[in-house]
Amino acid sequence: MTVYTRDDIKAAGWLREENYIGGAWVAADDGRTYGVDDPATETQIGTIPWVGRTETKRAIDAAQAAFTAWSMTTAGERAGLLGRMAQIVRDNLDILASMLTLEQGKPLAEARNEMKLGADYIQWFAEEARRINGEIIPSPWKDRQILVTREPVGVVGAISPWNFPFSMLSRKIAPALAAGCTIVIKPSEFTPYCGLLYGVLAGMAGVPAGVVNVVTGDGAAVGGELTQNPLVRKITFTGSTRVGKLLYKQSADTMKKLSMELGGNAPTIIFDDADLELAVENAIAGKFRNTGQTCVCTNRFYVQDGIYDAFAARLTERVRQMKVGNGFDAGVEQGPLINQAAVAKVEAHVQDAKAKGGRVLLGGKRHALGATFYEPTVIADATPDMLIAHEETFGPVAALFRFTTEQEGVDAANATEFGLAAYFFTKDLARTFRVARAIQSGMIGINAGVITTPEAPFGGVKDSGIGREGSTHGVEDYLNIKYLSLGGL
Ligand code: NAD
Repeated sequence: MTVYTRDDIKAAGWLREENYIGGAWVAADDGRTYGVDDPATETQIGTIPWVGRTETKRAIDAAQAAFTAWSMTTAGERAGLLGRMAQIVRDNLDILASMLTLEQGKPLAEARNEMKLGADYIQWFAEEARRINGEIIPSPWKDRQILVTREPVGVVGAISPWNFPFSMLSRKIAPALAAGCTIVIKPSEFTPYCGLLYGVLAGMAGVPAGVVNVVTGDGAAVGGELTQNPLVRKITFTGSTRVGKLLYKQSADTMKKLSMELGGNAPTIIFDDADLELAVENAIAGKFRNTGQTCVCTNRFYVQDGIYDAFAARLTERVRQMKVGNGFDAGVEQGPLINQAAVAKVEAHVQDAKAKGGRVLLGGKRHALGATFYEPTVIADATPDMLIAHEETFGPVAALFRFTTEQEGVDAANATEFGLAAYFFTKDLARTFRVARAIQSGMIGINAGVITTPEAPFGGVKDSGIGREGSTHGVEDYLNIKYLSLGGL
Protein backbone atom coordinates (compact mmCIF):
# COMPACT_ATOMS: atom_id res chain seq x y z
CA MET A 1 0.00 0.00 0.00
CA THR A 2 1.45 3.35 -1.03
CA VAL A 3 2.16 5.82 1.78
CA TYR A 4 1.41 9.45 0.96
CA THR A 5 2.87 12.42 2.83
CA ARG A 6 0.98 15.44 4.06
CA ASP A 7 2.33 17.44 1.12
CA ASP A 8 1.25 14.77 -1.41
CA ILE A 9 -2.26 14.76 0.03
CA LYS A 10 -2.46 18.57 0.10
CA ALA A 11 -1.11 18.90 -3.46
CA ALA A 12 -3.71 16.41 -4.70
CA GLY A 13 -6.46 18.62 -3.26
CA TRP A 14 -7.80 16.24 -0.59
CA LEU A 15 -6.54 18.11 2.46
CA ARG A 16 -8.45 21.41 2.68
CA GLU A 17 -7.79 24.07 5.27
CA GLU A 18 -10.92 26.20 4.91
CA ASN A 19 -14.59 25.64 5.72
CA TYR A 20 -17.13 24.69 3.07
CA ILE A 21 -20.21 26.93 3.22
CA GLY A 22 -22.74 27.38 0.41
CA GLY A 23 -20.39 25.69 -2.06
CA ALA A 24 -17.43 28.03 -1.34
CA TRP A 25 -14.22 27.41 0.64
CA VAL A 26 -13.97 30.14 3.28
CA ALA A 27 -11.97 31.22 6.35
CA ALA A 28 -13.33 32.17 9.79
CA ASP A 29 -14.75 35.73 9.79
CA ASP A 30 -11.94 36.89 12.05
CA GLY A 31 -9.34 34.72 10.32
CA ARG A 32 -8.81 32.65 13.46
CA THR A 33 -7.29 29.19 13.01
CA TYR A 34 -6.07 26.34 15.19
CA GLY A 35 -3.45 23.64 14.74
CA VAL A 36 -4.16 19.97 14.07
CA ASP A 37 -1.55 17.45 15.22
CA ASP A 38 -0.43 14.03 14.01
CA PRO A 39 -1.06 11.87 17.12
CA ALA A 40 1.95 9.63 16.45
CA THR A 41 4.58 12.37 16.24
CA GLU A 42 2.69 15.22 17.95
CA THR A 43 3.84 17.52 15.15
CA GLN A 44 1.46 19.94 13.48
CA ILE A 45 -0.17 18.80 10.23
CA GLY A 46 -1.72 22.17 9.46
CA THR A 47 -4.17 24.81 10.61
CA ILE A 48 -7.89 25.14 9.96
CA PRO A 49 -10.58 27.71 10.78
CA TRP A 50 -11.84 28.10 14.33
CA VAL A 51 -15.40 29.32 13.74
CA GLY A 52 -18.27 30.15 16.07
CA ARG A 53 -21.97 30.90 15.94
CA THR A 54 -21.94 33.49 13.13
CA GLU A 55 -20.32 31.25 10.54
CA THR A 56 -22.47 28.31 11.68
CA LYS A 57 -25.62 30.40 11.22
CA ARG A 58 -24.43 31.29 7.72
CA ALA A 59 -23.93 27.59 6.96
CA ILE A 60 -27.45 26.83 8.26
CA ASP A 61 -28.88 29.62 6.08
CA ALA A 62 -27.05 28.16 3.07
CA ALA A 63 -28.45 24.71 3.85
CA GLN A 64 -31.95 26.17 4.24
CA ALA A 65 -31.66 28.07 0.94
CA ALA A 66 -30.64 24.87 -0.84
CA PHE A 67 -33.28 22.70 0.81
CA THR A 68 -36.37 23.25 -1.33
CA ALA A 69 -34.67 22.57 -4.66
CA TRP A 70 -32.74 19.60 -3.25
CA SER A 71 -35.82 18.05 -1.66
CA MET A 72 -37.58 18.27 -5.05
CA THR A 73 -34.86 16.36 -6.93
CA THR A 74 -35.78 12.83 -7.91
CA ALA A 75 -34.60 9.90 -5.83
CA GLY A 76 -32.66 8.75 -8.89
CA GLU A 77 -30.79 12.07 -9.10
CA ARG A 78 -29.82 11.93 -5.42
CA ALA A 79 -28.83 8.28 -5.74
CA GLY A 80 -26.63 9.17 -8.71
CA LEU A 81 -24.78 11.92 -6.84
CA LEU A 82 -24.25 9.76 -3.76
CA GLY A 83 -23.05 6.90 -5.94
CA ARG A 84 -20.52 9.27 -7.51
CA MET A 85 -19.25 10.33 -4.07
CA ALA A 86 -18.80 6.67 -3.09
CA GLN A 87 -16.95 5.94 -6.31
CA ILE A 88 -14.55 8.86 -5.83
CA VAL A 89 -13.64 7.46 -2.40
CA ARG A 90 -13.18 3.94 -3.77
CA ASP A 91 -10.96 5.27 -6.58
CA ASN A 92 -8.67 7.04 -4.10
CA LEU A 93 -8.58 4.68 -1.13
CA ASP A 94 -4.83 4.69 -0.60
CA ILE A 95 -4.27 8.44 -0.50
CA LEU A 96 -7.40 9.01 1.60
CA ALA A 97 -6.28 6.27 4.02
CA SER A 98 -2.99 8.13 4.43
CA MET A 99 -4.89 11.31 5.30
CA LEU A 100 -6.91 9.41 7.92
CA THR A 101 -3.82 7.84 9.52
CA LEU A 102 -2.07 11.20 9.50
CA GLU A 103 -4.70 12.93 11.62
CA GLN A 104 -6.12 9.99 13.59
CA GLY A 105 -3.15 7.65 14.03
CA LYS A 106 -4.74 4.27 13.26
CA PRO A 107 -2.68 1.75 11.28
CA LEU A 108 -2.86 2.36 7.55
CA ALA A 109 -4.63 -0.93 6.79
CA GLU A 110 -7.36 -0.02 9.30
CA ALA A 111 -7.61 3.47 7.81
CA ARG A 112 -8.11 1.95 4.38
CA ASN A 113 -10.85 -0.30 5.79
CA GLU A 114 -12.55 2.70 7.34
CA MET A 115 -12.47 4.63 4.07
CA LYS A 116 -13.90 1.63 2.27
CA LEU A 117 -16.58 1.21 4.95
CA GLY A 118 -17.49 4.89 4.54
CA ALA A 119 -17.84 4.42 0.76
CA ASP A 120 -19.98 1.32 1.41
CA TYR A 121 -22.32 3.31 3.67
CA ILE A 122 -22.64 6.05 1.04
CA GLN A 123 -23.38 3.41 -1.61
CA TRP A 124 -25.92 1.73 0.63
CA PHE A 125 -27.88 4.94 1.12
CA ALA A 126 -27.55 5.81 -2.58
CA GLU A 127 -29.48 2.59 -3.15
CA GLU A 128 -31.92 3.23 -0.28
CA ALA A 129 -32.85 6.64 -1.76
CA ARG A 130 -35.08 4.88 -4.27
CA ARG A 131 -36.88 2.82 -1.64
CA ILE A 132 -38.29 5.63 0.51
CA ASN A 133 -41.81 4.47 -0.16
CA GLY A 134 -45.17 5.71 1.06
CA GLU A 135 -48.19 3.65 2.12
CA ILE A 136 -51.87 3.34 1.29
CA ILE A 137 -53.81 2.10 4.31
CA PRO A 138 -57.28 0.46 4.07
CA SER A 139 -59.68 3.24 4.96
CA PRO A 140 -62.53 3.06 7.51
CA TRP A 141 -64.48 5.51 5.27
CA LYS A 142 -66.08 4.36 2.00
CA ASP A 143 -65.42 7.69 0.26
CA ARG A 144 -61.85 8.29 1.39
CA GLN A 145 -58.34 6.99 1.01
CA ILE A 146 -55.58 7.15 3.63
CA LEU A 147 -52.21 7.97 2.09
CA VAL A 148 -48.90 8.20 3.93
CA THR A 149 -45.86 9.93 2.46
CA ARG A 150 -42.34 10.29 3.83
CA GLU A 151 -40.73 13.70 3.50
CA PRO A 152 -37.26 15.03 4.35
CA VAL A 153 -37.15 16.72 7.78
CA GLY A 154 -35.23 19.76 6.48
CA VAL A 155 -31.81 21.05 7.52
CA VAL A 156 -29.76 18.56 9.56
CA GLY A 157 -26.95 19.39 12.02
CA ALA A 158 -24.33 16.64 12.37
CA ILE A 159 -21.60 16.47 15.00
CA SER A 160 -19.04 13.67 14.94
CA PRO A 161 -16.14 12.21 16.97
CA TRP A 162 -12.49 11.59 16.16
CA ASN A 163 -12.26 7.80 16.42
CA PHE A 164 -13.88 7.03 13.03
CA PRO A 165 -13.70 10.47 11.42
CA PHE A 166 -14.79 9.37 7.95
CA SER A 167 -17.18 6.45 8.38
CA MET A 168 -19.18 8.00 11.26
CA LEU A 169 -20.04 10.95 9.02
CA SER A 170 -20.86 8.77 6.02
CA ARG A 171 -23.78 7.21 7.86
CA LYS A 172 -25.17 10.67 8.68
CA ILE A 173 -24.53 12.58 5.44
CA ALA A 174 -25.57 9.80 3.05
CA PRO A 175 -29.00 9.05 4.58
CA ALA A 176 -29.66 12.78 5.02
CA LEU A 177 -28.95 13.45 1.35
CA ALA A 178 -30.80 10.31 0.24
CA ALA A 179 -33.88 11.53 2.14
CA GLY A 180 -33.67 14.97 0.49
CA CYS A 181 -32.28 16.86 3.50
CA THR A 182 -29.43 19.35 3.46
CA ILE A 183 -26.77 19.29 6.15
CA VAL A 184 -24.27 21.25 8.23
CA ILE A 185 -21.44 19.10 9.61
CA LYS A 186 -19.07 19.76 12.49
CA PRO A 187 -16.29 17.17 12.64
CA SER A 188 -14.18 16.62 15.75
CA GLU A 189 -11.52 19.27 16.31
CA PHE A 190 -8.92 16.47 16.44
CA THR A 191 -9.76 15.02 13.02
CA PRO A 192 -11.24 17.80 10.87
CA TYR A 193 -9.64 16.84 7.56
CA CYS A 194 -11.78 13.73 7.06
CA GLY A 195 -14.84 15.92 7.74
CA LEU A 196 -13.76 18.69 5.37
CA LEU A 197 -13.23 15.91 2.81
CA TYR A 198 -17.03 15.77 2.45
CA GLY A 199 -16.89 19.30 1.04
CA VAL A 200 -14.32 18.12 -1.49
CA LEU A 201 -16.41 15.05 -2.38
CA ALA A 202 -19.64 17.05 -2.69
CA GLY A 203 -17.92 19.55 -5.00
CA MET A 204 -16.32 16.83 -7.15
CA ALA A 205 -19.54 14.83 -7.44
CA GLY A 206 -21.57 17.90 -8.43
CA VAL A 207 -23.81 18.09 -5.35
CA PRO A 208 -25.50 21.53 -5.54
CA ALA A 209 -24.04 24.35 -3.41
CA GLY A 210 -25.47 24.54 0.11
CA VAL A 211 -26.56 20.90 0.31
CA VAL A 212 -23.41 19.90 2.23
CA ASN A 213 -21.68 22.43 4.50
CA VAL A 214 -18.71 21.80 6.81
CA VAL A 215 -17.66 24.04 9.70
CA THR A 216 -14.76 23.46 12.10
CA GLY A 217 -13.84 24.88 15.48
CA ASP A 218 -15.49 25.71 18.75
CA GLY A 219 -17.67 22.69 19.65
CA ALA A 220 -19.78 24.53 22.22
CA ALA A 221 -20.45 27.54 19.96
CA VAL A 222 -21.14 25.55 16.79
CA GLY A 223 -23.18 23.00 18.75
CA GLY A 224 -25.08 25.83 20.47
CA GLU A 225 -26.13 27.33 17.15
CA LEU A 226 -26.98 23.99 15.56
CA THR A 227 -29.18 22.94 18.49
CA GLN A 228 -30.87 26.30 19.08
CA ASN A 229 -31.42 27.55 15.52
CA PRO A 230 -35.06 26.80 14.59
CA LEU A 231 -34.15 26.18 10.94
CA VAL A 232 -32.29 23.02 11.94
CA ARG A 233 -34.91 20.29 12.19
CA LYS A 234 -32.70 17.41 13.23
CA ILE A 235 -29.51 16.82 15.17
CA THR A 236 -27.48 13.71 14.61
CA PHE A 237 -24.64 13.28 17.08
CA THR A 238 -21.97 10.65 17.61
CA GLY A 239 -19.73 11.14 20.63
CA SER A 240 -19.69 10.95 24.39
CA THR A 241 -22.80 10.47 26.51
CA ARG A 242 -21.95 13.67 28.40
CA VAL A 243 -22.06 15.88 25.29
CA GLY A 244 -24.99 13.92 23.85
CA LYS A 245 -27.13 14.69 26.90
CA LEU A 246 -26.17 18.35 26.68
CA LEU A 247 -27.22 18.54 23.03
CA TYR A 248 -30.44 16.66 23.83
CA LYS A 249 -31.35 19.33 26.40
CA GLN A 250 -30.31 22.20 24.14
CA SER A 251 -32.51 20.85 21.33
CA ALA A 252 -35.66 20.73 23.46
CA ASP A 253 -36.81 24.32 22.88
CA THR A 254 -36.92 23.90 19.12
CA MET A 255 -38.30 20.33 19.33
CA LYS A 256 -35.79 18.75 16.97
CA LYS A 257 -35.65 15.17 15.89
CA LEU A 258 -32.60 13.55 17.48
CA SER A 259 -30.25 10.67 16.81
CA MET A 260 -27.69 9.99 19.52
CA GLU A 261 -24.88 7.48 19.04
CA LEU A 262 -23.17 7.69 22.42
CA GLY A 263 -20.65 5.94 24.62
CA GLY A 264 -20.47 2.23 25.35
CA ASN A 265 -19.00 -0.12 27.94
CA ALA A 266 -19.28 -3.34 26.00
CA PRO A 267 -19.14 -6.68 27.79
CA THR A 268 -17.88 -9.89 26.20
CA ILE A 269 -18.94 -13.10 27.95
CA ILE A 270 -16.85 -16.20 27.31
CA PHE A 271 -18.73 -19.30 28.45
CA ASP A 272 -16.99 -22.58 29.33
CA ASP A 273 -18.30 -24.19 26.14
CA ALA A 274 -16.90 -21.47 23.83
CA ASP A 275 -14.51 -22.22 20.99
CA LEU A 276 -11.36 -20.88 22.62
CA GLU A 277 -9.48 -19.93 19.44
CA LEU A 278 -12.55 -18.23 17.94
CA ALA A 279 -13.11 -16.32 21.18
CA VAL A 280 -9.48 -15.18 21.38
CA GLU A 281 -9.24 -14.09 17.73
CA ASN A 282 -12.50 -12.16 17.97
CA ALA A 283 -11.50 -10.70 21.31
CA ILE A 284 -8.34 -9.34 19.67
CA ALA A 285 -10.27 -7.88 16.74
CA GLY A 286 -13.06 -6.48 18.89
CA LYS A 287 -10.88 -5.08 21.67
CA PHE A 288 -7.70 -3.83 20.04
CA ARG A 289 -8.98 -2.42 16.74
CA ASN A 290 -8.19 1.31 16.56
CA THR A 291 -6.01 0.78 19.67
CA GLY A 292 -9.13 0.17 21.73
CA GLN A 293 -10.68 3.51 20.80
CA THR A 294 -13.95 2.14 19.48
CA CYS A 295 -17.40 2.74 20.97
CA VAL A 296 -18.29 -0.92 20.44
CA CYS A 297 -15.00 -2.37 21.68
CA THR A 298 -15.03 -4.68 24.67
CA ASN A 299 -14.29 -2.95 27.93
CA ARG A 300 -15.10 -5.92 30.18
CA PHE A 301 -14.34 -9.58 29.51
CA TYR A 302 -16.45 -11.90 31.71
CA VAL A 303 -14.85 -15.33 31.57
CA GLN A 304 -16.41 -18.44 33.11
CA ASP A 305 -14.36 -20.40 35.68
CA GLY A 306 -13.71 -23.44 33.52
CA ILE A 307 -12.11 -21.53 30.62
CA TYR A 308 -10.70 -18.54 32.51
CA ASP A 309 -7.06 -19.61 32.81
CA ALA A 310 -6.83 -20.96 29.26
CA PHE A 311 -8.43 -17.81 27.82
CA ALA A 312 -6.20 -15.50 29.86
CA ALA A 313 -3.06 -17.37 28.76
CA ARG A 314 -3.98 -17.53 25.08
CA LEU A 315 -5.15 -13.92 24.93
CA THR A 316 -1.95 -12.72 26.58
CA GLU A 317 0.15 -14.74 24.14
CA ARG A 318 -1.69 -13.18 21.16
CA VAL A 319 -1.57 -9.63 22.52
CA ARG A 320 2.17 -10.01 23.12
CA GLN A 321 2.63 -10.52 19.37
CA MET A 322 0.98 -7.21 18.44
CA LYS A 323 3.35 -4.71 16.86
CA VAL A 324 3.05 -1.18 18.25
CA GLY A 325 4.21 1.84 16.26
CA ASN A 326 3.43 4.71 13.93
CA GLY A 327 0.38 3.73 11.85
CA PHE A 328 2.39 4.38 8.68
CA ASP A 329 5.00 1.69 9.52
CA ALA A 330 4.60 -1.71 7.92
CA GLY A 331 3.05 -4.43 10.07
CA VAL A 332 1.92 -2.10 12.86
CA GLU A 333 -1.31 -3.28 14.51
CA GLN A 334 -1.43 -0.81 17.44
CA GLY A 335 -0.99 2.90 16.75
CA PRO A 336 -0.87 5.83 19.15
CA LEU A 337 -3.84 7.03 21.17
CA ILE A 338 -5.44 10.24 19.95
CA ASN A 339 -3.60 12.49 22.44
CA GLN A 340 -1.86 12.60 25.81
CA ALA A 341 -5.15 13.07 27.69
CA ALA A 342 -6.31 9.72 26.31
CA VAL A 343 -3.12 8.06 27.56
CA ALA A 344 -3.63 9.65 30.99
CA LYS A 345 -7.14 8.14 31.18
CA VAL A 346 -5.87 4.67 30.29
CA GLU A 347 -3.09 5.04 32.84
CA ALA A 348 -5.58 6.08 35.55
CA HIS A 349 -7.77 3.04 34.82
CA VAL A 350 -4.80 0.65 34.99
CA GLN A 351 -3.44 2.22 38.20
CA ASP A 352 -6.88 1.97 39.77
CA ALA A 353 -7.20 -1.69 38.72
CA LYS A 354 -3.77 -2.49 40.15
CA ALA A 355 -4.56 -0.74 43.42
CA LYS A 356 -7.76 -2.80 43.74
CA GLY A 357 -6.07 -6.18 43.21
CA GLY A 358 -5.87 -6.46 39.41
CA ARG A 359 -3.05 -8.68 38.17
CA VAL A 360 -1.17 -7.30 35.14
CA LEU A 361 -0.48 -10.21 32.79
CA LEU A 362 1.00 -7.99 30.09
CA GLY A 363 1.82 -4.31 29.56
CA GLY A 364 0.37 -2.04 32.22
CA LYS A 365 2.48 1.00 31.44
CA ARG A 366 3.20 3.76 28.93
CA HIS A 367 5.07 2.68 25.80
CA ALA A 368 8.64 3.79 25.22
CA LEU A 369 7.70 4.98 21.71
CA GLY A 370 6.34 8.31 22.92
CA ALA A 371 3.86 10.25 25.03
CA THR A 372 0.80 9.12 23.01
CA PHE A 373 1.61 5.40 23.10
CA TYR A 374 0.49 2.82 25.68
CA GLU A 375 1.51 -0.84 25.86
CA PRO A 376 -1.19 -3.37 24.93
CA THR A 377 -2.33 -4.60 28.32
CA VAL A 378 -4.10 -7.60 29.82
CA ILE A 379 -5.33 -7.46 33.43
CA ALA A 380 -6.68 -10.49 35.29
CA ASP A 381 -8.73 -10.59 38.52
CA ALA A 382 -10.75 -7.47 37.60
CA THR A 383 -13.57 -6.62 40.02
CA PRO A 384 -16.78 -4.57 39.85
CA ASP A 385 -15.41 -1.77 42.05
CA MET A 386 -12.75 -0.84 39.48
CA LEU A 387 -13.10 2.23 37.21
CA ILE A 388 -12.67 -0.06 34.22
CA ALA A 389 -15.93 -1.81 35.13
CA HIS A 390 -17.92 1.43 34.91
CA GLU A 391 -16.29 3.76 32.38
CA GLU A 392 -15.07 3.40 28.82
CA THR A 393 -11.29 3.03 29.02
CA PHE A 394 -10.94 3.80 25.31
CA GLY A 395 -7.51 2.25 25.09
CA PRO A 396 -5.62 -1.04 24.58
CA VAL A 397 -6.55 -2.67 27.88
CA ALA A 398 -8.33 -6.03 28.24
CA ALA A 399 -9.71 -6.55 31.75
CA LEU A 400 -10.77 -10.09 32.68
CA PHE A 401 -13.52 -10.67 35.25
CA ARG A 402 -14.31 -14.17 36.52
CA PHE A 403 -17.83 -15.62 36.91
CA THR A 404 -19.37 -19.00 37.69
CA THR A 405 -23.03 -19.33 36.59
CA GLU A 406 -24.70 -18.12 33.38
CA GLN A 407 -26.95 -15.82 35.37
CA GLU A 408 -23.96 -14.23 37.12
CA GLY A 409 -22.33 -13.56 33.75
CA VAL A 410 -25.48 -11.98 32.32
CA ASP A 411 -26.14 -9.88 35.43
CA ALA A 412 -22.57 -8.58 35.45
CA ALA A 413 -22.74 -7.73 31.74
CA ASN A 414 -25.96 -5.76 32.33
CA ALA A 415 -24.64 -3.90 35.38
CA THR A 416 -23.97 -0.67 33.48
CA GLU A 417 -25.96 2.36 32.36
CA PHE A 418 -24.68 1.76 28.82
CA GLY A 419 -26.15 -0.58 26.21
CA LEU A 420 -24.45 -0.18 22.86
CA ALA A 421 -22.76 -3.47 21.94
CA ALA A 422 -22.26 -6.79 23.74
CA TYR A 423 -20.66 -10.06 22.70
CA PHE A 424 -20.76 -13.63 23.89
CA PHE A 425 -19.15 -16.88 22.92
CA THR A 426 -20.85 -20.26 23.33
CA LYS A 427 -21.60 -23.37 21.28
CA ASP A 428 -24.86 -24.09 23.11
CA LEU A 429 -27.93 -23.23 21.03
CA ALA A 430 -30.40 -22.86 23.89
CA ARG A 431 -27.95 -20.66 25.81
CA THR A 432 -27.47 -18.54 22.68
CA PHE A 433 -31.14 -17.58 22.60
CA ARG A 434 -31.48 -17.26 26.41
CA VAL A 435 -28.51 -14.94 26.75
CA ALA A 436 -29.31 -12.93 23.59
CA ARG A 437 -32.74 -12.16 25.07
CA ALA A 438 -31.37 -11.27 28.52
CA ILE A 439 -28.59 -8.89 27.45
CA GLN A 440 -29.63 -5.21 27.44
CA SER A 441 -27.90 -3.91 24.34
CA GLY A 442 -28.70 -2.50 20.92
CA MET A 443 -26.31 -4.89 19.19
CA ILE A 444 -25.01 -8.35 20.11
CA GLY A 445 -22.17 -10.27 18.48
CA ILE A 446 -22.62 -14.00 19.08
CA ASN A 447 -19.39 -15.84 18.34
CA ALA A 448 -18.43 -12.66 16.44
CA GLY A 449 -16.33 -9.70 17.57
CA VAL A 450 -16.66 -7.23 14.67
CA ILE A 451 -20.25 -6.52 13.67
CA THR A 452 -20.45 -3.13 11.95
CA THR A 453 -21.74 -3.19 8.36
CA PRO A 454 -24.02 -0.89 6.30
CA GLU A 455 -26.67 -3.63 6.04
CA ALA A 456 -27.25 -3.83 9.83
CA PRO A 457 -28.86 -1.30 12.23
CA PHE A 458 -26.18 0.30 14.44
CA GLY A 459 -27.18 1.94 17.71
CA GLY A 460 -27.70 1.56 21.42
CA VAL A 461 -30.17 1.51 24.30
CA LYS A 462 -30.03 3.11 27.77
CA ASP A 463 -27.32 5.82 28.01
CA SER A 464 -25.79 4.67 24.72
CA GLY A 465 -28.35 6.66 22.78
CA ILE A 466 -31.40 6.69 20.54
CA GLY A 467 -31.92 5.98 16.85
CA ARG A 468 -30.20 3.64 14.41
CA GLU A 469 -27.64 4.24 11.68
CA GLY A 470 -27.18 2.04 8.63
CA SER A 471 -29.63 -0.60 7.34
CA THR A 472 -33.08 0.24 5.97
CA HIS A 473 -33.80 1.94 9.33
CA GLY A 474 -30.94 4.42 8.98
CA VAL A 475 -32.87 6.75 6.70
CA GLU A 476 -35.99 6.90 8.87
CA ASP A 477 -34.56 9.47 11.29
CA TYR A 478 -34.23 11.93 8.39
CA LEU A 479 -37.89 11.64 7.36
CA ASN A 480 -41.18 12.98 8.61
CA ILE A 481 -44.33 10.98 8.08
CA LYS A 482 -47.22 12.89 6.50
CA TYR A 483 -50.77 11.52 6.51
CA LEU A 484 -53.17 12.57 3.73
CA SER A 485 -56.86 11.89 4.23
CA LEU A 486 -58.27 12.05 0.72
CA GLY A 487 -62.05 12.49 0.78
CA GLY A 488 -64.92 13.00 -1.67
CA LEU A 489 -64.09 9.95 -3.75
P1 NAD B 1 -16.99 14.08 22.43
O1 NAD B 1 -18.38 13.95 22.93
O2 NAD B 1 -15.98 14.69 23.30
O3 NAD B 1 -16.97 14.91 21.08
C1 NAD B 1 -17.80 14.57 19.99
C2 NAD B 1 -18.07 15.81 19.18
O4 NAD B 1 -18.81 16.72 19.98
C3 NAD B 1 -16.84 16.55 18.71
O5 NAD B 1 -17.05 17.01 17.40
C4 NAD B 1 -16.76 17.71 19.67
O6 NAD B 1 -16.12 18.84 19.14
C5 NAD B 1 -18.21 18.00 19.91
N1 NAD B 1 -18.50 18.74 21.14
C6 NAD B 1 -17.80 18.75 22.29
N2 NAD B 1 -18.41 19.56 23.19
C7 NAD B 1 -19.51 20.05 22.58
C8 NAD B 1 -20.55 20.91 22.98
N3 NAD B 1 -20.58 21.46 24.20
N4 NAD B 1 -21.53 21.19 22.10
C9 NAD B 1 -21.51 20.64 20.87
N5 NAD B 1 -20.55 19.81 20.42
C10 NAD B 1 -19.56 19.52 21.28
O7 NAD B 1 -16.55 12.60 21.98
P2 NAD B 1 -15.17 12.15 21.34
O8 NAD B 1 -14.13 12.14 22.40
O9 NAD B 1 -14.91 12.91 20.09
O10 NAD B 1 -15.51 10.66 20.89
C11 NAD B 1 -15.42 9.56 21.73
C12 NAD B 1 -16.80 9.19 22.25
O11 NAD B 1 -17.67 8.93 21.16
C13 NAD B 1 -16.78 7.93 23.07
O12 NAD B 1 -17.62 8.10 24.17
C14 NAD B 1 -17.35 6.89 22.10
O13 NAD B 1 -17.93 5.78 22.71
C15 NAD B 1 -18.34 7.70 21.36
N6 NAD B 1 -18.66 7.08 20.08
C16 NAD B 1 -19.90 6.52 19.91
C17 NAD B 1 -20.22 5.90 18.71
C18 NAD B 1 -21.57 5.30 18.47
O14 NAD B 1 -21.89 5.03 17.33
N7 NAD B 1 -22.37 5.07 19.49
C19 NAD B 1 -19.29 5.87 17.69
C20 NAD B 1 -18.04 6.46 17.88
C21 NAD B 1 -17.76 7.07 19.10
